[in-house]
Amino acid sequence: MIDPTKFTCADARPLVSAYLDDELTADRASPLRQHLMECAECRTATQSHKAQRQWFQTTPPVEVPAGFASRVARRAFQGDLGEAPFQAAEDDRVLAPVLPFVLRMTAAAALLLLVISGALRSVEIPTGGELRADDAATMTLEAALERLERLDREESALSEVRSR
Ligand SMILES: [Zn+2]
Repeated sequence: MIDPTKFTCADARPLVSAYLDDELTADRASPLRQHLMECAECRTATQSHKAQRQWFQTTPPVEVPAGFASRVARRAFQGDLGEAPFQAAEDDRVLAPVLPFVLRMTAAAALLLLVISGALRSVEIPTGGELRADDAATMTLEAALERLERLDREESALSEVRSR
């Protein structure tokens, strides 16, 4: 048993983490608890330690099939609009047009993410001159939107040909 009167802050601090995890045996926890009652500094340290932990507490993971995100992104980038493999049943006919829209938005969002991460990367690199993050982001964004528009035009031209 540790003598509580000789228990110092230096003794207390290393135990705080284990104490919060309920991992201390009673004979180690009790002098710490007593010290915390008497020492405002260690009490504050323990409180902030506890608060910090709540920030990083993980929520239970959501189960997503392996490779789901990369599969969706890859198909979206390949221009898959979900039309071909979608076999609409009688009742699903109303919902069928929604899926291509969702996939199209996914492709647009993925493209935007790429553009934004590209822009962020260019901000992180020291250029020596002044940072022109806004300009860079706007330019690439416009380029991306232009590209999307061009894809749209090509596609509508294609479907016009098809419908003839
Ligand atoms: Zn203390």
